[in-house]
Amino acid sequence: MAVYIPKQISEFFAAARQPYSYNLRRNIYIWFGILWGLPIPLVTILIQVHFLQASGVENSCLTAITSPPQWFFLAHPLLFGVIFGILGTIRNDQDAQLKKMIKRLEQLSTLDPLTGLSNRRYFAHIFHDECARSLRRKEAMTLLFLDLDHFKRVNDDHGHHFGDLALQATALCLKKQCRPYDTIVRWGGEEFVILLRATDEEAALHFAERIRLAVQRGFDPPLPFPMTISIGLAQYQENDTLEDLTNRADKALYHAKQTGRNKVVPWSSLPEGEDG
Ligand code: GH3
Ligand code: MG
Ligand code: MG
Repeated sequence: MAVYIPKQISEFFAAARQPYSYNLRRNIYIWFGILWGLPIPLVTILIQVHFLQASGVENSCLTAITSPPQWFFLAHPLLFGVIFGILGTIRNDQDAQLKKMIKRLEQLSTLDPLTGLSNRRYFAHIFHDECARSLRRKEAMTLLFLDLDHFKRVNDDHGHHFGDLALQATALCLKKQCRPYDTIVRWGGEEFVILLRATDEEAALHFAERIRLAVQRGFDPPLPFPMTISIGLAQYQENDTLEDLTNRADKALYHAKQTGRNKVVPWSSLPEGEDG
């Protein structure tokens, strides 16, 4: 018959078998328990030795240590080692579970559930670091604002389910086109933002054009309707806030929408008066 041993107990025995080397965070509880229990037999033995000496007994130390009542006290350091060791294992397990939960909550609060992309909250969180990095390395950085064209029609003509599929397919397409260190964000609805590290406006223009063409070509597996995307882009300028940069890219996107959609417009190319 298999005997069920709780995980904490078996973990404790694993740690106790290798008291120096198993896992310092686990072993330390055992050693702490032993140290905590050590004064008990020391004090009781000293007291007994004192009385034995007072009664003139020879070899009082050996007599005290080998007397059966002291065995009970001598077992205390071990007992405390076991109790503290098991409590420590339980605590370590709870810490690990808590860390896992915190990580999961962090993921939930920074990821968009539909597309699996980062969300706006995450972007706001990393933006300052990215700006500092760009300035420190004297590298250009460009933000793309992307918006699917006539997306409302997709929902109206094919239903929300296909709308969702189209958003997921777009997200996958963006992931495929981007480099691992680019940040892709679902800004909201059918809008996406991409922050391109070490990329000036000219390079970003080529990159955005590639995305536009990829969306126009269609996805794999294909959707039963064509889709296009409009993109506005703006290069980061020193002291830009997140709002400054996204506003400029949004203005370029607005211009792309106004002038026919399915196109890429850099903010620097906007006619006088439209660049804010
Ligand atoms: P434009 O080319 O000017 O951008 O037109 P548009 O229709 O794409 O833009 P509009 O802002 O009028 O419509 C956006 C639509 O996106 C409306 C909304 O129902 C849809 N949408 C937003 N979020 C979701 C989503 O999570 N799932 C689905 N299926 N649709 C969404
Ligand atoms: Mg929109
Ligand atoms: Mg749209």
